[in-house]
Amino acid sequence: MPRIYRLFFASILLLSLNLYGLAGCAGDPARAQKAHSGRSSLNSPTPSSPPAPLNQGTLSLPELPPRQGAKKNATESSTGRPDEKEGSIPESSTPPKSVGKQAELIFHGSRQTKKVALTFDACEDEQPRGYDAKITEILKASQVPATIFLGGKWVESHPAAARELGSCPLFELGNHSYLHPDFSKISLEHMREEILRTQKIVEKATGQRPRLFRFPFGRYTRQALQVVEELGLKSIQWDVVTGDPDPNIKAADIEREVFRLTRGGSIIIMHINGRGWHTAEALPKIIKGLREKGFEFVTVSQLLLEKP
Ligand SMILES: [Zn+2]
Repeated sequence: MPRIYRLFFASILLLSLNLYGLAGCAGDPARAQKAHSGRSSLNSPTPSSPPAPLNQGTLSLPELPPRQGAKKNATESSTGRPDEKEGSIPESSTPPKSVGKQAELIFHGSRQTKKVALTFDACEDEQPRGYDAKITEILKASQVPATIFLGGKWVESHPAAARELGSCPLFELGNHSYLHPDFSKISLEHMREEILRTQKIVEKATGQRPRLFRFPFGRYTRQALQVVEELGLKSIQWDVVTGDPDPNIKAADIEREVFRLTRGGSIIIMHINGRGWHTAEALPKIIKGLREKGFEFVTVSQLLLEKP
């Protein structure tokens, strides 16, 4: 291994030890919470002037989110619907609650930074889903922070896993709705119910109150964005899609897509609900490869603190 990389790894190790201590993830939710508290605007439903970094990678409607190559491979979930497909902005017949204010949709952080965020969705609808504990083990062993978007029903089916994730200071927990409905098709009231119910479940199970929201299937409407913002959450999409819900996509394919698409500020989407078929297999190489390229892993909230 070249000397420069040895030095790099040594500095990362020192930094990790400094940040998280030798205890690893022995469980300190208060500490994890502290990592999230750096951004008061995340809790404000009506930020009068959002901090500049938030403008990085956000969407000004009615643009469409970027379509990535791997998305064409998005697989069918057992509900018969494509999982985590690209977003869409159909106009709803219901008028928005407040007109004129533009809700943000974040695809990535500042491109001027070498920081990137790994994100993992724990989706669950009527069909029971699993928990890929190997992913958690790898992240902890490599001291890699990540943002994990929890479905409310998934938390109810996996209380021990949710507790474990909530107790590790490496992990930031987001809200991924209760029953994973398509937010481009449900009523505003249904959206609020899905989000608020999940907020309560996640907070009770993990001690963390989510500040971030990820739309099921990445689908939303203008009104849906507004609802998320009104409830004090930030809508987080992604700019690097791994295609990991597709069982035909191998670990090598996931790695290749991540290395091809990741840039400074990238938000990478994967799955931790057992539907990321080769995610755990690909993860060690992704972590090693991105670190060798000089990228540093942070949570989404940490990423959004970066200056543009
Ligand atoms: Zn999902």
